[in-house]
Amino acid sequence: MPGRVLSVASEYVPLVKTGGLADVAGALPGALAGQGWDMRTLLPAYPGLIDKAHATEEVWSHLDLFGGPGRVLMGQVGGNAVLLLDAPHLYDRAGGPYGNPKDYPDNAQRFAALSWVGARIAIDGLSDGWVPDVLHCHDWQSGFAPAYLRFSGDKRVKSVMTIHNIAFQGNASAALLGELRLPFEAFNSDALEYWGHLSSLKAGLATADVITTVSPTYAAELMRGDFGMGMQGLLAYRAADLTGILNGIDEDVWNPETDTEIAHRYSKTSLAKKAPNRAALTAEFGLTGIDGPLAIVVSRLTDQKGIDLIVECATDFVAMGGGLAILGSGEAHLEQALKDLVKAHPGKIGLRIGYDEALAHRMFAGGDAVLVPSRFEPCGLTQLYGLRYGCVPVVALTGGLADTVIDANPMAQQAKVATGVQFHPVDALAFGQALRRLVDLHENSKNWSAMQKRGMSQALGWDTSAATYAQLYESLTA
Ligand code: ADP
Repeated sequence: MPGRVLSVASEYVPLVKTGGLADVAGALPGALAGQGWDMRTLLPAYPGLIDKAHATEEVWSHLDLFGGPGRVLMGQVGGNAVLLLDAPHLYDRAGGPYGNPKDYPDNAQRFAALSWVGARIAIDGLSDGWVPDVLHCHDWQSGFAPAYLRFSGDKRVKSVMTIHNIAFQGNASAALLGELRLPFEAFNSDALEYWGHLSSLKAGLATADVITTVSPTYAAELMRGDFGMGMQGLLAYRAADLTGILNGIDEDVWNPETDTEIAHRYSKTSLAKKAPNRAALTAEFGLTGIDGPLAIVVSRLTDQKGIDLIVECATDFVAMGGGLAILGSGEAHLEQALKDLVKAHPGKIGLRIGYDEALAHRMFAGGDAVLVPSRFEPCGLTQLYGLRYGCVPVVALTGGLADTVIDANPMAQQAKVATGVQFHPVDALAFGQALRRLVDLHENSKNWSAMQKRGMSQALGWDTSAATYAQLYESLTA
């Protein structure tokens, strides 16, 4: 029987986003509603959010929330209830959700408070009578919530901890234990202690009833030393409770047939209309005479995303006739390396530093291929947007990239199932070869458009994943 879920997250599309977590947290309530589950999402009331969500109804309050009063105001976004934790001493900051450019020094308190309120609501419910059956937490920012729930002794509410990216672990000084209202006796390696410190992610992984992550391959990878980032032992120990459920995308927002951000809308039966989008994109990035594939990159510019491999392989790619349009922001040395690349290849490589959602749409519409050479990738969304827009993904064989793209190897081509190019290991040699294969595949226009159409025919929405989450909730509450 479907029930109620309290989702606790630090980001939520369309209210606040720094990465894929926001897309998932924002998509889940609508997707789960289709399965009959009533999900409300608790998130911090960062500046401006209360107005954006029209959150006026107070449904919870507490006088002493880690150094000041806190209350929860309920609003609606896209037909789904959001619960905004209004605690100005914690969240009324001019920078981003976590700081800008440096993390806020009290992030441990800020997100422990969010987690603590999540657990309290799970146990006591809201003043309008809404009481959840499941507490669903996302990443380190809500990792203490299953721990607070467990230590409260409550056994009615079940908890789910979802790993969107294990690289962020919410480490904090053990000296904060008392301040964060965590029991001293739980400071041991089976619960809160992580190499002598606290880790909110570890706390969640150790105490939640079940653990999920965002692709089956990442779930398997996480139990290995080269991907688990210190959590592999715990995750291997909890293997029976760990599942990978692929993310979906919002097929209304990411739909080349209806996309209002692009000049020329198209579908898999009118692929020729990609050409004017491509022309517009090359013009926008100042590129000319690109005979081979026009590849795009829409990404945080970090080591995880393999941006250095793009820097290393770009010259050869351009020499093969390819062009590159890059959008992203991130680590200063990578931004600089890309700027140098543009200087070295004027008219062949274009770069926009920054975050620009509308431009991202134009890039998927105009690009022939999207490059995602990530060293690890829990799920990844950009390869999915690529599939949807006939912008063929070239991806590292890892995590969700391994689970969502079918490599154009000879057998897959013969079976007519290929949707992209995969490479392994994640190094410049293998990536360079993948780019060579991309150029070759692109030359055969008939096979190329067949591959584009197959990608565009994939089911990429939330239906399958939502049904799997619903099954998980049901198994917990049965
Ligand atoms: P991650 O969450 O690790 O950054 P994902 O691929 O899961 O990676 O999600 C990234 C999301 O952020 C996608 O929706 C992607 O389109 C978007 N994105 C990343 N960088 C930019 C940018 N510079 N401009 C616009 N959108 C971006």
